[in-house]
Amino acid sequence: MTTTLIPVELNIEGLEIINVKINREGHYEIYVESTQEGCTCYECGRQITKPHGKDRQKRIRHLPILGRETYLIVKLPRFQCVDCYGKPTTTQQVAWHERNSPNTRTEEKHILLGLMGGTVEDVSLREGIGYEAVMGIVRRHIKTEVNWKQIKQLERIGVDEISLKKGHKDFVTIISAYIDGCVPLLAVLEDRLKKTRLSGNHS
Ligand SMILES: [Zn+2]
Repeated sequence: MTTTLIPVELNIEGLEIINVKINREGHYEIYVESTQEGCTCYECGRQITKPHGKDRQKRIRHLPILGRETYLIVKLPRFQCVDCYGKPTTTQQVAWHERNSPNTRTEEKHILLGLMGGTVEDVSLREGIGYEAVMGIVRRHIKTEVNWKQIKQLERIGVDEISLKKGHKDFVTIISAYIDGCVPLLAVLEDRLKKTRLSGNHS
């Protein structure tokens, strides 16, 4: 059988792809290495570049490719601070992944935008991830205000209120905008306590 291959953009900067596999469950596993230099010391905040091995291997869910679940497999580099007492080591912080999240930031945005016009249960079923995993994403993104300044050109804004649990008065509001044909997520607001307000101005 001849297989036609197409190049796929990962849309993540600072990564080198080492290997791509399809595992037994039919999921893509993309083995990557970080090409970013150094990191910030968690103690003193200075930029550190002295290598100190690698963190444990992580399996981080990314956007699906042609309907297959896709995971990035990575061991992030660690660096040592020579200025701090005890010379502590820090795992590299990367823009595409929030520490302790099982997903890339792009995947989390995708899941949150999928909540618009639906429920947590719908998204959980459609994306094949557990209810608690969806809730974990919602919790990590909850803010109390929208930063309107980060929006330069606003064509259309979406405000969706979603119920977190059936029959409960537990809502979050998802604010999104349509800018140049794409839909960036602006904020997830908790409004259970009616404390949340949209602040700032639109200009
Ligand atoms: Zn330090």
